[in-house]
Amino acid sequence: MVEKPAQMTLFGVPATVTEVAADATLPPAVANGPLSAANELPAAASPDILVPGQEGFFGVRATRAEALASLAARARECRRCGLREGCRGVVFGEGDPDSGIVFLGEAPGAVEDELGRPFVGQAGQLLDRILLAVGFRREQVYITNTALCRPPGNRAPLPEETAACRPWFEERLAVLQPSIIVCLGASAGRNLLGPEFGITRDRGRWYSFGQAKLMATFHPAALLRDPAKKRPVWEDLKAVRAEWTRFRSEPEAARSGGRPIPPGN
Ligand code: SF4
Repeated sequence: MVEKPAQMTLFGVPATVTEVAADATLPPAVANGPLSAANELPAAASPDILVPGQEGFFGVRATRAEALASLAARARECRRCGLREGCRGVVFGEGDPDSGIVFLGEAPGAVEDELGRPFVGQAGQLLDRILLAVGFRREQVYITNTALCRPPGNRAPLPEETAACRPWFEERLAVLQPSIIVCLGASAGRNLLGPEFGITRDRGRWYSFGQAKLMATFHPAALLRDPAKKRPVWEDLKAVRAEWTRFRSEPEAARSGGRPIPPGN
C-alpha cells in the first residue's frame, strides 16, 4: 500500500489518498469538519442547503436528486471565477445520482457549453460507446467535470479556476456519496490525487479517496488522438464495472458509500 500526500480537502477536511488493492476493504468514512477559509462558500453555511435524507421545511425528506437540483440551482448563479463571463452557462452534471459512481472530467468544451450537458461532444460520444462496451448505459452513471464552466478556446482551466470551483465539487460529492470515482484524464487525476499524479504511470490503479474508491484512466479525447489507448481504457473500465457490480451486490449496510436515501414522506 503506497501512501500519497493529501493534496486537497474532501468535504472540508484533508483527504487521505492511498493506493489500495482492488478488493481491499475501504477505510472508515472521513469525518465532516469545518470548511477551510479557502473552500468556504457563503452558501455552505446556509440553512437553505438541502441534504439528502434531511427533513426540510415541510418535514419532507430530500432525495439525493432534489438535493442535487438545489445545489445545481445555486451553482448556476456562480461568478466565483472569470470562466463564467466567457461561457454560456454552468454545465453542472447529469446522470443517476443514486448510482454510486461518478465519472469526472476536466471542464466543458464548446458543444457541452452550447448544450449545457457534460461529455456530449465527439469525446463524449466516444465515452458513451466505451461505457456501453463495459455494460453501463450513460444514464446509469453520474457524469460531471471538476470545473463547471468552459474555459475560452477549450484551454485547460487554470489552477486558480479549478480551486475556485472546488467547493462545488466537494458539495456534489457530499450529496452523491459515490462509492466509485473515475477520473477521466490527467487533469482530473491531478485534481484529486495531487500534482505528482501521472496518467500514463498511475492510471488503472485503485486509490481510496475519502469514502470512495478512485481510479483514473485516459480521457476519451486522448483515445481520439491515439487509438492505442483504447486497450488500457477498456481494461481499466472493466475493473471499474466489476467493482461497481460488487458494490451493487453488497447488502446496503455493508456499502461504504452511495447509501440509499430514505424515501420521501
Ligand atoms: S468555473 Fe466554477 S467557480 Fe468558476 S464561475 Fe463557473 S461554477 Fe463558478
